[in-house]
Amino acid sequence: RVNRDDFMNALDEVQPAFGVSKEELEQVVENGIIHFAPTVDAILRSGKLFVEQVRTSTRTPLVSVLLHGPPGSGKTALAATIAQASQYPFMKLLSPDSMVGFSEAQKVAAISKVFSDSYKSPLSVIVVDNLERLLDFTPIGPRFSNTVLQTLMVLFARRPPKGRRLLILATSSMRPVLTDLGLSETFDSELRVPPISSLRAVDHVLEELELFPSAQERRNAIHMLEQAGFGSAEAEEEEGTSRLNIGIKKLLSIVEMSKQEPDAAAERLTESLMGLGY
Ligand code: ATP
Ligand code: MG
Repeated sequence: RVNRDDFMNALDEVQPAFGVSKEELEQVVENGIIHFAPTVDAILRSGKLFVEQVRTSTRTPLVSVLLHGPPGSGKTALAATIAQASQYPFMKLLSPDSMVGFSEAQKVAAISKVFSDSYKSPLSVIVVDNLERLLDFTPIGPRFSNTVLQTLMVLFARRPPKGRRLLILATSSMRPVLTDLGLSETFDSELRVPPISSLRAVDHVLEELELFPSAQERRNAIHMLEQAGFGSAEAEEEEGTSRLNIGIKKLLSIVEMSKQEPDAAAERLTESLMGLGY
């Protein structure tokens, strides 16, 4: 028997005209953003300005921004967070994860469809995630899909039709490669997403994730990390000179691992960071 719930579910499954795929963005944003350093807020603030620029300026119907930084520094999560916060009627995540096993032609078709769909909405934001993987870039050779590259170049530069506005947020951990491919120049702006380089930021993450049952135990753990040579929890470390250099993604997984052994969490944490070769 078909009841009212089935009917309502069926309605839900019908995507609106400018097919919004909010779920994908929501999934990426699910774990949340920890404000462990001033750079995090600065990036989100800049993102918000781009969102407002596209919303209000009639002169810039197309704005493209590249978020770049080392692997696991949080590029995808930040781009998705900025996109989702826009609350534009069209929000879409274009991710290589959803194109596994696609031929070049299928990839081009999928990418083109997202852009042409966006042109139907007055305001759109597209997150083009992990450009190097989208391009099938391999450092050996080096090789990449020239067809996908040409498609992206055209779409990144194409002005949306009259009355339509589009914000493109792309991510990459291989900015130099993008420069070699001539793709860097197509962006109006760039935001660098740095790795975590200070114990203060680590401390913030530990507090947020409640790895330690008390503040005192957390302080002890940070002290252990200081002793291990990872810098000082008091000083703001400079990226590059700091011995600590870890993406938030990796740090989160290390903290999760350490949680499995609550009695030796500080030791596990220190060992894991040392084990990474710092
Ligand atoms: P990759 O180089 O593998 O593509 P990435 O740089 O895109 O990695 P994400 O996939 O965004 O990194 O992973 C970051 C993870 O850290 C996410 O799970 C996110 O929820 C979490 N996170 C917590 N705080 C932050 C933050 N301040 N900025 C970014 N991500 C954060
Ligand atoms: Mg990513």
